[in-house]
Amino acid sequence: MAEAATLPRVPERTCIGCRRKTASAGLVRVARRSDGELSVGRTEPGRGAWLCAGSVACFDAAVQRRAFGRALRAEVSGQELGWLRERLLSEGVSTSEGPTGHKLEGVVGA
Ligand SMILES: [Zn+2]
Repeated sequence: MAEAATLPRVPERTCIGCRRKTASAGLVRVARRSDGELSVGRTEPGRGAWLCAGSVACFDAAVQRRAFGRALRAEVSGQELGWLRERLLSEGVSTSEGPTGHKLEGVVGA
């Protein structure tokens, strides 16, 4: 009989939007710190909620079923959700594309 012990232990998290279980590498974490501020990052202290990285669909699904409030054990205001949405989407993009150079344009000399 094969033992599962030979498999590397990959910690799995459940996305609160689509409820799919996946390795935490493909997810972003939203945490509510002890001071009540929301923050994004897998090392943030406090209660955390996981979402598929860069997925608007998962975020919106989580908002619709009020999954944030449940996962974080506290109400999340509409303003906070708006901030989170932007924050999460930029996280998803930045991890897959890497740093982008700032384009300087608009200054066209005659
Ligand atoms: Zn998801």
